[in-house]
Amino acid sequence: MERIDKVLASHNFGSRKQVHKLIKSGAVQINGSCCTRTDVKIDPETDLIEVDGKKVQYSRFLYIMLNKPRGVVSASRDKNAKTVLDLLPAEYKRKGLFPAGRLDKDTEGLILITDDGEFAHKMLSPSQKVYKTYYARLDGEVTQEAVSRFRQGILFEDGTQCLPARLTVCADKHSAYVQICEGKFHQVKKMFCACGLRVSYLKRLAVGGLQLDEKLKPGESKMLTECEKQLIFIVNMH
Ligand code: URA
Repeated sequence: MERIDKVLASHNFGSRKQVHKLIKSGAVQINGSCCTRTDVKIDPETDLIEVDGKKVQYSRFLYIMLNKPRGVVSASRDKNAKTVLDLLPAEYKRKGLFPAGRLDKDTEGLILITDDGEFAHKMLSPSQKVYKTYYARLDGEVTQEAVSRFRQGILFEDGTQCLPARLTVCADKHSAYVQICEGKFHQVKKMFCACGLRVSYLKRLAVGGLQLDEKLKPGESKMLTECEKQLIFIVNMH
């Protein structure tokens, strides 16, 4: 059983405060009866929830986009540092949420948080070819040789082989867009390092066809719509 305000807040009806206003306005019906109490407990799997006469499509799992700021760790908990889960507003917090994939502490940008393990596995599995797009600034010029090494698949000194990746150099030659479909530890930094370059700034801009919502300030999050969720699995590698 879950509180009606929590269910609505986690289904794109606004913050907990906005949802309270909505409920008190009489716009919410549960199993055909008007509900003006915010703490009513319902079974969202079986109870019919309507807002302004429209059925709320309940989703068992949550899919959240967070614009991760620097200095926050991509873990469910950490003894010393703030985690991506700590940044979520109360209405999104739920048992079982975890970041789907990792960004380094000093990396910014798009991270997805969910409680759907199967979805996370599919999104992260290299075989699914969900390309993650990063913007990187480097301490030197990105050469055409680096572009072709990325295209062939970089081999790390420890023998680890990376899959082919796309590197698009920006006009200033000191920054580039990188697309990879795997998530090895520090992968982008290590790939540039193999080409003699150090990454001074890294931001993830997209996962598959889903772009970071530019309206989200660092630290802000939003629920994905069904359509946005599906964009993840649209191939975005050119
Ligand atoms: N590659 C990295 O090196 N760091 C990240 O945070 C993500 C990809």
